[in-house]
Amino acid sequence: RTGPRTAKTVLVTGASSGIGEATARLLAGAGHRVMLGARRADRLAALTKEIRADGGTADHRELDVTDLESMRAFVRAAQESYGRVDVLVNNAGVMPLAMLEALKVDEWNRMIDVNIRGVLHGIAAVLPVMREQGAGHIVNVASVSGHRVDPTAAVYCATKYAVRAISEGLRQESRDLRVTVVSPGLTRSELTDSISDLGMRAATEDMMGIAIPATAIGEAIVYAVNQPADVDVNEIVIRPTAQG
Ligand code: NDP
Repeated sequence: RTGPRTAKTVLVTGASSGIGEATARLLAGAGHRVMLGARRADRLAALTKEIRADGGTADHRELDVTDLESMRAFVRAAQESYGRVDVLVNNAGVMPLAMLEALKVDEWNRMIDVNIRGVLHGIAAVLPVMREQGAGHIVNVASVSGHRVDPTAAVYCATKYAVRAISEGLRQESRDLRVTVVSPGLTRSELTDSISDLGMRAATEDMMGIAIPATAIGEAIVYAVNQPADVDVNEIVIRPTAQG
């Protein structure tokens, strides 16, 4: 009962870098058909080309997860390319860390829009399709910041607590769907690029010295996807061994 039963159609948001990109490569390498979404379409096109050159099946579409219509069009594109939608990986996220007292209200809203609304838009776009199919799997990327709060991360943590709450609610309500939360610790990616406070960005990049590669998270997502239909991996938390 291990290994992929069948090739699946897997949609990955935020596939233009970091965890999403690594996950897309690993999924394609495991024989799944991937549909890649993010705003940087040039990066998606290059990744699609690479995956195809390696013998994998990939397609891509520009996606802004904060826009429900964009998310619906992304799901339709997957249906048009592959005929069905087996798995959605809601991975896109931003992390502009700052103290609350800095009052970076636009950044708070951005985190809410991408990290929470983005996940909800993904769910809204695929639920009707998965219900019609009678099966489906939604993988939401939360964080260890969805388990504990640290200074400068209050709003980011709030969004990741929300992702875990939404995932658990969806799981309880959906006996025909699999729901998985993957909660990474420090992982090498471009995530710190969204930190506008330069001191905070340097401090976070220092902490990233112990970060694990994005493939470590991608492997966990592939593991959850490859389980048999009656096995729902509810949550996987993965930290660098050296992370407190
Ligand atoms: P990256 O910055 O490398 O990747 C983030 C991805 O999200 C990019 O592909 C980006 O693509 C995409 N994205 C951002 N905004 C939007 C949007 N509006 N619409 C569509 N896509 C968007 O960071 P990670 O790989 O680290 O982040 C992936 C997930 O992992 C996030 O949810 C993050 O919170 C989570 N995480 C990361 C940890 C880490 O230490 N790296 C730890 C815990 C959780 P583009 O800009 O092209 O749109």
